[in-house]
Amino acid sequence: MDYYGSQMSRLIEQLSSLPGIGGKSAQRLAFHIIHMPKERVQQLAETILEARNNVRYCSQCCTLTDQETCPICSDPSRDKKTIMVVETTRDLAAYEKTGKYEGVYHVLHGAISPMLGIGPSDIKLKELMQRLQGDVEEVIIATNSSLEGETTAMYISKLIKPTGIKVSRIASGVPVGGDLEYIDEVTLLRALEGRIEL
Ligand code: ZN
Repeated sequence: MDYYGSQMSRLIEQLSSLPGIGGKSAQRLAFHIIHMPKERVQQLAETILEARNNVRYCSQCCTLTDQETCPICSDPSRDKKTIMVVETTRDLAAYEKTGKYEGVYHVLHGAISPMLGIGPSDIKLKELMQRLQGDVEEVIIATNSSLEGETTAMYISKLIKPTGIKVSRIASGVPVGGDLEYIDEVTLLRALEGRIEL
């Protein structure tokens, strides 16, 4: 039975299709939206549309940005010869929060997972290899310490080794299976400083 009328039900259904939003949360959000001032709803809808239309991958590091090149890659004070490889833009944000890393990043948008059928060509690896044809001294692999993260780190290091570019892996201290974005800044810095050459 449709208790709410079709438009309300459709709103609840659409919201519950988002990740992490169950039926109850979707209902709560839908009621909240219905009671919001119309201008605020308009603003929210426009913000979502604008972000979806304009946010894309940085032409250098593949992080999400609304410009051709992200602010980190466009910053002349960043050391372009040191590239830290991370799985997601959220991981990049975690390292940026430490304020101590002066190099640039490369965002893979995932990790290799034979179990989930995610192979090397499904992440931004080709883009990384292209960047390495430029003037690069070190690649720091900061993928998560999950099975997928380790598999990816191993794969990348094997790929880069023949180029003669230094490859290092952030130190343990980042707990196994730990998601980088939930780890505090001190631990992240320690992991970065204690990185081991592969
Ligand atoms: Zn960038």
